[in-house]
Amino acid sequence: MGNVWMIVADTMSASNVAGIAVNAGAPVDALVFGDAKMAEDVAKLGVATVTRYDVEATLAEAYAPAIAEKAAAEAPAAVVLSDNATARALAGAIAVKAGAAVATSVVSVNVADGQATVEQLVAEGEGVQVLKASAPVVCVIADGGPDAEEGAAVAVQDGAADAADALKVVATNAEDEGATGLLTAEKVVGVGLGIGGKENLALVNDLADALGAAVACTLPLCDNYHWFEHSSVVGTSTQKISPRLYLCAGSSGAPQHMAGVRSAKVIVAINNDPEAPVFRECSYGIVGDLEKVLPALTAAVKGA
Ligand SMILES: Cc1cc2nc3c(=O)[nH]c(=O)nc-3n(C[C@H](O)[C@H](O)[C@H](O)COP(=O)(O)OP(=O)(O)OC[C@H]3O[C@@H](n4cnc5c(N)ncnc54)[C@H](O)[C@@H]3O)c2cc1C
Repeated sequence: MGNVWMIVADTMSASNVAGIAVNAGAPVDALVFGDAKMAEDVAKLGVATVTRYDVEATLAEAYAPAIAEKAAAEAPAAVVLSDNATARALAGAIAVKAGAAVATSVVSVNVADGQATVEQLVAEGEGVQVLKASAPVVCVIADGGPDAEEGAAVAVQDGAADAADALKVVATNAEDEGATGLLTAEKVVGVGLGIGGKENLALVNDLADALGAAVACTLPLCDNYHWFEHSSVVGTSTQKISPRLYLCAGSSGAPQHMAGVRSAKVIVAINNDPEAPVFRECSYGIVGDLEKVLPALTAAVKGA
């Protein structure tokens, strides 16, 4: 009772969610819905326990009734999760069964005397609102917070919960992620409308080749110009990525795009407008014409 539960259903966000959970002031029980490697990685993030639920032949969502029962019985003070569809489904079941409130865009959780105080972003990230919970609270963690520090691993336990029979995986026809490699890429060069013309995409591809990076784009380059497939678009409409480096050339940094890259460790922005919003969100900003900056960076990387 009074612990923090951390629901992990994707690898990318585990460290970000744990960064909030382990600083909440209560023991963290991680419930991992994934493979053994995912559970072992979470076990190093400063949590008290890790329980892994096998999702090889069963959808994670099929565990929802059992997990919700467990939550109602154990009454965690807070349940934290990333903005991931599977995690949201599990948390929804918990909220209903355990009578929990739900808070989104959460940037901190603090548990004292079994009750949680939660800070959430408001006003498009410009403000922070403090919420005091008198019952368990489900917290969807905002992207881009501090990662948890890795330490000694705790043992991984097998989840004994019965999965509901109603959902069984009978076939999986996944699109080949290798087509763009964005979800697993360590480095990504992103391109926006500032690229000017299709012929300039060579500048982006040259830098990506020199860096060994994947290439992403903003929505208009796909929807309006059809220069990229939808699988290359990053943002709220498509996918979120978490590379170590996101180099963003010729994009204004619209919230719908940045929501897809905020988990990047380092964001470098190139824009010829010093007032471009992207400069408020990047680690390093280069004010300049990308037709000059991109070749200079490519030459520098090749010469390094
Ligand atoms: C419901 C909804 C969902 C959306 N989902 C997504 C999404 O998932 N992903 C996404 O990307 N967008 C999404 N959008 C669109 C988003 O709102 C923006 O319109 C889009 O991201 C802007 O793309 P951009 O940055 O390439 O273009 P712009 O906003 O036009 O920015 C171009 C930038 O290039 C700079 N520039 C121009 N010339 C140069 C030069 N020579 N050198 C350097 N810089 C230069 C300009 O200063 C400008 O800042 C969505 C919109 C809506 C309404």
